[in-house]
Amino acid sequence: MKFSGFELLKQGLTGNTGWAPHWRRPKPKGAYDIVIIGGGGHGLATAYYLAKNHGLQNIAVLEKGYLGGGNIGRNTTIVRSNYMMPGNSEFYSHSLKLWEGMEQDLNFNTMMSQRGQIVLFHSDGQRDAAVRRANAMINRGDDAEILTTAEVRKHAPYLNFDSARFPIYGGILQRRAGTARHDAVAWGYARGADLRGVDLIQNCEVTGMDIENGRVQGVQTTQGPIKAKKVAMVTAGRSSQVAALAGMRLPIESHILQAFVSEGLKPVIHHVISFGMGHFYISQSDKGGLVFGGNLDYYASYAARGNLAMKEHVMEAAMALMPIIGQAKVLRSWGGIMDMSPDGSPIIDKTHIEGLYLNCGWCYGGFKAVPASGYGFAHLIATDNHHPTASGFRLDRFRTGYGLMDEEGTGSQHNLH
Ligand SMILES: Cc1cc2nc3c(=O)[nH]c(=O)nc-3n(C[C@H](O)[C@H](O)[C@H](O)COP(=O)(O)OP(=O)(O)OC[C@H]3O[C@@H](n4cnc5c(N)ncnc54)[C@H](O)[C@@H]3O)c2cc1C
Repeated sequence: MKFSGFELLKQGLTGNTGWAPHWRRPKPKGAYDIVIIGGGGHGLATAYYLAKNHGLQNIAVLEKGYLGGGNIGRNTTIVRSNYMMPGNSEFYSHSLKLWEGMEQDLNFNTMMSQRGQIVLFHSDGQRDAAVRRANAMINRGDDAEILTTAEVRKHAPYLNFDSARFPIYGGILQRRAGTARHDAVAWGYARGADLRGVDLIQNCEVTGMDIENGRVQGVQTTQGPIKAKKVAMVTAGRSSQVAALAGMRLPIESHILQAFVSEGLKPVIHHVISFGMGHFYISQSDKGGLVFGGNLDYYASYAARGNLAMKEHVMEAAMALMPIIGQAKVLRSWGGIMDMSPDGSPIIDKTHIEGLYLNCGWCYGGFKAVPASGYGFAHLIATDNHHPTASGFRLDRFRTGYGLMDEEGTGSQHNLH
């Protein structure tokens, strides 16, 4: 069913009884050309681009829970392309362009809102680093502006500009950055993939991997065995566990990241504001809730909930940056499991097992990556060649040390990226 103004009018006048389900609920077949493990943003986007760009249809996405129930539905929805390092830079640039055409491409309202992101800086040294980053972004063809303190004040007058510890010296503004509705992105890709013949199979956990003579043959699942010529692992925070089914030990640690939302308020924050020194960022959702978060919980865990110490830290940072937030009430908080890589950059690669592909290591930034990751991973699976915008994310860089992309310069410590 295609969404259009005419369809909306027709359904509105006929009691909204004619809407069809967004996707089928098929039973798994015994065999597929391609099996994708994980129905999060990256798995669904991969299925969509395999079908759309490469004309492949005999594909199943196997999801152990429900579509969009993982991190794709738990993140704080920030979309940006302010990366600097070769490898990351062209990839996120490509991703932002795909975001800009996504609603038309998917014929689905993902509520993409390019409200701009301001990343604050607090010293002369940080300004120099910000100018360097902004120049790198502009030279790549993306947009970036350096704002003075007065210009930041015009955009965000509610900030605490003269804090003794972190006075605001200015910020980088990327106007094309913003937010999108996270679960709508999963639904849009799911619907697009289903329309092109992909089987989306929910409540189907992969529990084993069938490998013979160094080649993948299929998977064992809670809904029975499924044969496959190619198998793609796209399970974000659970990547280490799923790869272990194939006997692989990944350079990934799983850490918790929390997020918070306040009661609905009148519009007050018109951008995404990032306060790196306080490990804090905030935006306001279209419903009016202040959506904010901070750093990882620092210890590795598979529990999708967070600890109180980090909650306190995030609230302190919020009060330091914008004391007016003290009047708002927090409505709820939650956590997600982050697949942290040693250099903070992802992995999109083949494995040493023929026919087995890996996509993981998205850390806390994989939402904005969803379109380019699906695009590039589909290209790799379909052609066995890396897509030019996703060619740097090799697994063996953690063995050889060549091609590491430590964007934050924090060294090989998963929880610091
Ligand atoms: C609080 C929070 C805030 C964030 N904020 C941002 C942000 O502002 N911007 C940004 O870019 N990124 C952000 N992220 C990161 C982003 O959400 C993730 O990097 C990204 O969603 C991960 O990829 P995914 O969507 O494919 O993961 P998921 O949605 O987690 O998908 C993986 C799927 O695999 C399934 N699975 C696991 N094991 C199996 C199995 N054995 N068999 C079958 N299925 C299995 C899981 O059930 C899950 O549905 C944030 C994350 C969190 C938690």
